Amino acid sequence: MFNAKAYSAASATSPLASTTIPRRDATEHDVQIEILFCGICHSDLHSVRNEWSNIMPTVYPIVPGHEIVGRVTKVGSGVTKFKPGDLASVGCLVDSDHTCPNCQDGLEQFCPNQTFTFNSPDKHLGGVTYGGYSESIVVDEAFVLSVPSNLNLAGVAPLLCAGITTYSPMRRWGNLKGKKVGVVGLGGLGHMGVKFARAFGAHVVVFTTSPGKKEDALRLGAHEVVISRNPDEMQQHAASFNFILDTISADHDINAYINLLARDGNLTLVGAPEKPLAVSAFSLLSGRRSISGSLIGGIAETQEMLDFCGKHDITADVEVIPIQKVNEAYERLVKADVKYRFSIDMASLKTE
Ligand code: NAP
Ligand code: ZN
Repeated sequence: MFNAKAYSAASATSPLASTTIPRRDATEHDVQIEILFCGICHSDLHSVRNEWSNIMPTVYPIVPGHEIVGRVTKVGSGVTKFKPGDLASVGCLVDSDHTCPNCQDGLEQFCPNQTFTFNSPDKHLGGVTYGGYSESIVVDEAFVLSVPSNLNLAGVAPLLCAGITTYSPMRRWGNLKGKKVGVVGLGGLGHMGVKFARAFGAHVVVFTTSPGKKEDALRLGAHEVVISRNPDEMQQHAASFNFILDTISADHDINAYINLLARDGNLTLVGAPEKPLAVSAFSLLSGRRSISGSLIGGIAETQEMLDFCGKHDITADVEVIPIQKVNEAYERLVKADVKYRFSIDMASLKTE
């Protein structure tokens, strides 16, 4: 075991602050990574503030962070995929049972015995797992992803959650070429959704509550932008979408978007608001529309997504911050004021 510098929160109302945490020594199949960048996902904030207390209560202290990219510093004797010096990345999962039907289907995110990168029981050290707001992490190589060498690392980190969470449902929905696709909410997930939908050949429409994001939405790849608080603009798109990805992190009227689906259209929810959303039966009945949900993606699909990003030169648009600005970044995240993902430069931890 060794100590690593990190940032943690002591309670739902405490700010994140400098600390040291234990990390395990790399065992046979482990990869030890020096973390270079870690994205700030809204899920980090939901967890730090215990906003999902009914589903997965937060154990304190919490070290969040599941958008991790770095360099391998050490590998166990049985590791075959990585060697010291390689770039490596880690997303939301660090372990699963490898045997359940979900794992066998490459859908480790639905394994009943999965271990999330933070706030999950830690099989090695006891307590809970600690995430990427840290100088290092030790992870089983089966959950470590390779990083394309041509991409900017600060912008790669968010691919590990925001990227795969938007890539996976769009891929699953089928060929989006020529389809009308809506992306609701232009934050970390939403802006990746726009990039992927565009890369998949869809006609992309962004729904935003922030008029100031309109130009950016077009630059990121949207063909059209709708200010969702304007009922006339919404009405112009009634019953016309094949697929809508809803990334909103807070309470909202989901029926306003379901009503924009064409016959047999689907709205996939990836945003995870604290409170349940009310769905009008009639919005679904007319047009045989459906809603569904999606949770990150499996390990093989995450690698596929990273390789796709390497090939198509896709990364997140990031605001790089030192870790000392993390609490300020959280306040801005709540106000939907980030363009479009914070990526923490972990070199800043060295001064702590
Ligand atoms: P984010 O960067 O904060 O983006 C959320 C966006 O939602 C905001 O930028 C804003 O976009 C919009 N929004 C916020 N409050 C709103 C409100 N009251 N009404 C309408 N729109 C609002 O968050 P994120 O990191 O993309 O995460 C989004 C959600 O997905 C979070 O709940 C997160 O926990 C969840 N998540 C789920 C998964 C999964 O596997 N399913 C993975 C990662 C994250 P505009 O300014 O454009 O309106
Ligand atoms: Zn996330």
